[in-house]
Amino acid sequence: MANVENKEVLLRISNLKQYFPLKKGRFVKANDGISIDIYKGETFGLVGESGCGKSTLGRTVLQLYKQTYGRTTYYGRTLGDLAPKYMLDTVKNLPKLRTKWKELEAKKDQLEAEYAKLSETEQYAKHAALDEARKLAEDAKLDMTKIIGGFVIVDDLAPVTAAYESYYNVSKQIVNLAMKRQDIQADHDEAAFLLKQAKKDGKGADQGKVNSLAAQLKEINQQIASLETQQKQCGKEIDALRAPYEDNAEFQKYDADRDDGVDLTRLTYNEMRQLRRDMQLIFQDPYSSLNPRMSVGQIISEGMQAHKMLKKNDARMQEMVLEIMEQCGLAPYFLHRFPHQFSGGQRQRIGIARSLATHPKFVVCDEAVSALDVSIQAQIINLLQDLKEQKNLTYLFITHDLSVVKYISDRIGVMYLGNMVELADSQEIFDNPVHPYTEALLNAIPTTENEEQEDLQILEGDIPSPVNPPKGCKFHTRCSYCTEICKQVVPEWEEVSPNHFVACHHKLHRVKEMQG
Ligand code: SF4
Repeated sequence: MANVENKEVLLRISNLKQYFPLKKGRFVKANDGISIDIYKGETFGLVGESGCGKSTLGRTVLQLYKQTYGRTTYYGRTLGDLAPKYMLDTVKNLPKLRTKWKELEAKKDQLEAEYAKLSETEQYAKHAALDEARKLAEDAKLDMTKIIGGFVIVDDLAPVTAAYESYYNVSKQIVNLAMKRQDIQADHDEAAFLLKQAKKDGKGADQGKVNSLAAQLKEINQQIASLETQQKQCGKEIDALRAPYEDNAEFQKYDADRDDGVDLTRLTYNEMRQLRRDMQLIFQDPYSSLNPRMSVGQIISEGMQAHKMLKKNDARMQEMVLEIMEQCGLAPYFLHRFPHQFSGGQRQRIGIARSLATHPKFVVCDEAVSALDVSIQAQIINLLQDLKEQKNLTYLFITHDLSVVKYISDRIGVMYLGNMVELADSQEIFDNPVHPYTEALLNAIPTTENEEQEDLQILEGDIPSPVNPPKGCKFHTRCSYCTEICKQVVPEWEEVSPNHFVACHHKLHRVKEMQG
């Protein structure tokens, strides 16, 4: 499921909305229905003017803000790895959820029938309501089908519920034991390190503690192995229940949604905490993001302690911190220095070391180089590139500056006022921009070639308020290609060429214009 054209999806963001409440029932719609896939190992550049919602998107994906609506599915771990509570809740409530889904489907069908009878102008007005009904029905279905797949059509849900409950219970026991193992492993590794040091220094050493911890680890590993066998058995029981439906087309249709990813939006606080070390943030401002009272060593080790990779005062701390410092180009003697003793570029290296110390899989770089001088920007970008390759990272690279993302990104998404308006491979965005907003951003990049410099156009007008965004296409108030339909109807998000998506009513006309 998470494999699209041989690229594995790490994060699937579906219809993400992030609204911040104001007084009198009004909202700032910072992100208004964003859907993108981020592939394992890629750098996804996210670009837009300040205020377009790109930083909010980065933080919402990390669940630093409680997501208002939509799903953010993470494929770095499976449902079986985490056994989240929402999985059990879904399984226990299947009959209720199915009734709700049927009701929403019926409502959507009714709206579709009414819509078909309307004139084109009336359809403009009802378009949003129908879209909303479709999304609600789809979401209600996905709540179940992502976990139980085609079983959603089965009359007797009791055996399905029982099988999934057993699977969940065994998975949960494994998760709890794995957390316990993590603690014992940290103690064991520290004791082994101290033992090695003592032997090296020719001191007498106590092998007993290491042996006892190794024995505990062995025992816990055996318990986990036995539970994993049970977990596989539960999986087989579920497969056996599926077998009679192998040729059932309707079952297959719903089964296509089955998916082992973890929906971050539905995790409890503690469950999300377990995933935090997988997902990190590098901040924009290296001046304010580092605690001035903490030394470099303390700053970098803080995350490792929070994620139980190390305990406080662990003897291995210094060695591990020095290792990550070296990878980030920080000299060992910086260890006991404080942030105010460093330049902007060095502070950003400290910030990067802090974020990468927990061995994350996914990193949001939020304007990570914007506060730095141009020459330092290049150094930090190169460092981020090197670390990405060494550590097999995936980046969401957020910036207002298209020229910065050109070299680092595999794909680029352009955001305007809470929505994604264009998405394509990095080179394609620069060679064939289709959305007028992307074109305007490109035209605003200064170049050293005189001829092109004359064409430099600055996008006029301010970005409208996200509290009261323009109707129809949100860019219509600033777009030189705007026509009547743009003022009324929200443009669809469509693929104009392979992997190149645009939301603009006149996209095809614009593509032709460029080809011509
Ligand atoms: S939909 Fe219309 S207003 Fe919006 S970007 Fe396209 S041409 Fe411009």
